This record gives sequence, structure tokens and C-alpha cells, in this order.
Amino acid sequence: MSNTRNRFDHINQRIKQAFNASGRSLTLPVTLLAVSKRHSLKKIQALYELKQRDFGESYLQEALEKIKKCPYSDIIWHFIGPIQSNKTKDIAHHFQWVHSVDRLKIARRLSAQRSGMPPLNICLQINISLEAQKSGFSSDEINTAMAEIIQLPNLNIRGLMAIPKPSDDFTQQKADFRQLHQLMQHLNEQYQLKMDSLSMGMSNDLEAAISEGATIIRVGTALFGSREY
Ligand SMILES: *Cc1c(COP(=O)(O)O)cnc(C)c1O
Repeated sequence: MSNTRNRFDHINQRIKQAFNASGRSLTLPVTLLAVSKRHSLKKIQALYELKQRDFGESYLQEALEKIKKCPYSDIIWHFIGPIQSNKTKDIAHHFQWVHSVDRLKIARRLSAQRSGMPPLNICLQINISLEAQKSGFSSDEINTAMAEIIQLPNLNIRGLMAIPKPSDDFTQQKADFRQLHQLMQHLNEQYQLKMDSLSMGMSNDLEAAISEGATIIRVGTALFGSREY
């Protein structure tokens, strides 16, 4: 427990320092998304008691079990994992955010299956480093696909998400994140959108992400320790 608290304090300290160093306006907060995949509900509860409210999950079955058993109604659940199209219904019904919308078909299905509920907050996943094995829209693809995505009735298009190719070079990290930020600005102008969320930055690159405008950073291991299963 004290371990959890130390890790939590440490990450929040890093976020605050990076935020101050970036000179960003204090009105746009950075949300820490606690990535709880492969960690027990007990660990989620320990962080909840420290006032953490946003939790990210990647594996649907595991997530649904935890969500069902979780006693707190004010947790905000984010789905951040790869999405198979036959799983979109449960994702649309049980999460408030989906960060990993990586193709048009998934956006269509999530919207259709969200009807009768408040709009689903989504981030479009962008393959910023254009790695062949990684999912996500290329910049060209999203430029075209957005014309249809904005017509989908039950989605609230909040922003973009990326997992850049890992790099230890701060300048390279910043360059990738800046590209994502610029793409969001471009799409906002082109489609007259008000996207306000950049889901970017993890344990080893959150400083670079925050300095380039991240609004949601996703941290697992550095908060919870190594995954339990
Ligand atoms: C697992 C995961 C994270 C967190 O990774 P850690 O190495 O545990 O910090 C962040 N983002 C995504 C999309 C993930 O799948």
C-alpha cells in the first residue's frame, strides 16, 4: 500500500514538474490514466482511495469482470487495447472512453451500439511512426476517414492517441508527439471540430508528451509495479 502511494506520488510529481517546465496554461489539465490491465481490483481500489478515478484496460474479458465487481460508480473506465469487431458491443456499453479506435469499421460499430446512451468519448489511434505491425490510421487515412466519422451520431470525438516507436532520445520523442498535436490541429480546422484530447505519453516519455501538449498520459507499470498475471 505505501508502495502504491509512493509510486502514485512520484508519478504525480513528474507530471507537475513536466507541466510547469512546459509553460503550458494552467487551465488545460493533464489527466493521469492508471493502466490497470493485468492488475487486480484490489490494486485499483488502493489507487481509488488515493483519489485516482481514471483507469485504463486493454483486455475486454478481464476488464468486464473487474467493472462488474467494482463497487465504485464514479470510476471512469477507458478502453485502450486492440479492438476486434465482435467485441465492440461490450466496449460501447461498459466504457466511457475508447482510445484505440483504429479503423472506420470500429467507429461505425461503436456508434451503432452506443445508441440510447450518452455519446461515447473516443480518441482515434494514429500510427505516428508508420510501423508496419502497429495499428492505427496513417495521417492520410484519418484525413479521409474523418469525413464519415464526424457523421456518426453516438460518438464524441475527443482527440487522438498514439503509441510512438520507443525511443530514449528526448528530441525524437518530442518530434513524434508534436506531429500528433499538429495533426489534431489540422483536423480541427479542416472539419471544424473541437477535439481537445491528446492521449500520448507513458512511463518513460511522459515529460516529452506533456511538453508537446498531452492531456492524457497512460501509465501502468510505474504506478502498479510489474503486472500480476
Ligand atoms: C499497457 C499500456 C500502457 C501502459 O504500459 P506500462 O508499460 O504498463 O506503463 C499504456 N498504453 C497502452 C496503449 C497500453 O496498452
